[in-house]
Amino acid sequence: MSTQFSTPDQPDTRTSARSHLHQVFGYAEFRGRQADIIDSVVQGASVLALMPTGGGKSLCYQIPALIREGTAIVISPLIALMRDQVDALAQNGVRAAVLNSSQSAEEQQAVEASLRNGGLDLLYVAPERLLQTKTRHLLEQVNIALFAIDEAHCVSQWGHDFRPEYLNIHQVTTRHPEVPCIALTATADKQTRQDIIKHLLGESAQVFIDSFDRPNIRYRIGQKTNAKEQLLRFIQLEHPDDAGIVYCGSRKKTETLAEWLCGKGLNALPYHAGLSPEERQTHQDQFIHEEGLIMCATIAFGMGIDKPNVRFVAHLDVPKSIEAYYQETGRAGRDGLPSDAWMVYGLNDIIQVRRLLGPTLASNPLERQRLEAMLAFLEHAECRRPVLLGYFNEDHPGQCGGCDNCLSPPKTWDATEAAQKALSCIFRTGQRYGATHIIDVLQGRLSDRITRLGHDQLSTFGIGRELNKHTWFSVLRQLLAKGYIEPDPEGHGGLQLSEQSRALLRGEESLFCRVDALASAQSPKPAQSTTENSDPLWQALKAWRLEMAHELGVPPYVIFHDRTLQAIIEARPDDLEELGQIHGVGRHKLERYGEAVLEVMWSTPR
Ligand code: ADP
Ligand code: ZN
Repeated sequence: MSTQFSTPDQPDTRTSARSHLHQVFGYAEFRGRQADIIDSVVQGASVLALMPTGGGKSLCYQIPALIREGTAIVISPLIALMRDQVDALAQNGVRAAVLNSSQSAEEQQAVEASLRNGGLDLLYVAPERLLQTKTRHLLEQVNIALFAIDEAHCVSQWGHDFRPEYLNIHQVTTRHPEVPCIALTATADKQTRQDIIKHLLGESAQVFIDSFDRPNIRYRIGQKTNAKEQLLRFIQLEHPDDAGIVYCGSRKKTETLAEWLCGKGLNALPYHAGLSPEERQTHQDQFIHEEGLIMCATIAFGMGIDKPNVRFVAHLDVPKSIEAYYQETGRAGRDGLPSDAWMVYGLNDIIQVRRLLGPTLASNPLERQRLEAMLAFLEHAECRRPVLLGYFNEDHPGQCGGCDNCLSPPKTWDATEAAQKALSCIFRTGQRYGATHIIDVLQGRLSDRITRLGHDQLSTFGIGRELNKHTWFSVLRQLLAKGYIEPDPEGHGGLQLSEQSRALLRGEESLFCRVDALASAQSPKPAQSTTENSDPLWQALKAWRLEMAHELGVPPYVIFHDRTLQAIIEARPDDLEELGQIHGVGRHKLERYGEAVLEVMWSTPR
């Protein structure tokens, strides 16, 4: 944390940045590298800021926009998000506006006029709009404080979010060589980084990399028994009133799951690319504007969702890569409060992934690697954070205390001999049967099918009686995950040996397996520890906030974050002055809502 805000050489900008942080945004301290980034931009440098989701990128250009003379031009690809930001800024008394083609001609003229009059601190535009000739002309006539390019990774053709217009942004920015430019992103691989510098900033750019760790997110990955019931239990026990996202692998599944959850008394909606644009928009708006809604979604949902109080992200299917998992889970807990990333998976999930790995991805080694890494991550038996952060070239010492493996370290056992038995059983039965049959043979079960096939005559019949069915499943799953066996390419559900299995069979390699724990049994304590959901004051403040939000047509968190409400409950301020000291209560919000909040507090019985 940077608390060093007055260096001897530039005491003024740092002090000024800090006082904006307090007075406008109501926050006590800068996070991570915010102070350094802001300082550089205020000084006029070009800056690349790499910060995790929820790291606080927006302040890195919003505060310089307030300190530097003129208007900051913010280029962002996500129109819904721009509107949210402008609403949130207005709540803090900052003069911001959006310019886009969905506005009426009058609205656009009004925005342009206040831009010309110097009446805006920030102007948000989409890249297409920025590149239009009339916008370029407009910008030549005004005083620009800085350019901020959000989601800067969109400039890279390597990523999934490539947007060709990003390649042309520099045509505009280079027309204003004296104006500093800050590019921001949460996607940080090396290639993307280089592309951003090359196409958006130039070689002289200063690069700031924040830690990508999300210490407030607790990662838990468990075994699937009955996924829906496990999920329900998790939500009921740990997040009964919270907003969350449940990622599912198929459109159909998002719908059936949402319906099922509603049947259980929860508030859930589906979201996927097959819904009409209107439906998608309504569901997304509901998620943002209501409290405690659960979105059952495919990966079509996520980018541009800036809701700070998503308390959990659950996965019922295995993501395509560790990066995808990290990005999806990263949508939890942007406000810094304890949040959960929760996932269950089973043998069949691994078979599905392995199938994908076969013929479809034979020609795509990179994609294969990503999936392999994801599978290994699932079965990982030590702290999960070093693996996650490794993807951002960041070292983590492990023992984070905030992942399943740290919270209840899994027991491992030497499964080499068991694995050898399983492998030879797969071989002797002809590499065409699925897990249940293999286990039946191993356990020496005399079923009709087995006698008919003559599998009771095999040397491997009954050699695995010492382990129960559950353990055999676990061994087979881990053999699959580690690539010693694979599903048959025809997709009949049979298991085959891979090249890699030879070394294990010959005893040149050994295999350690984790002892499976059930996901539902792994909940040490709810993540939401600060405020009890049943606290009447918490309920009252939330109700007041929701009403206010509806009245103003903004999302509740734009009024006050959960974290601010919690701080109010803890501090129980006696007057406006004390209320003004609280995290998230800036000058403007104090004026607007101070009285009302005190009233709610004093009228709620303790
Ligand atoms: P992202 O990096 O994902 O764009 P945001 O800029 O939306 O993150 O910030 C995430 C949340 O953290 C916002 O609600 C923001 O107000 C809050 N935030 C940012 N900086 C600070 C800070 N220094 N102290 C407290 N909260 C902060
Ligand atoms: Zn850990």
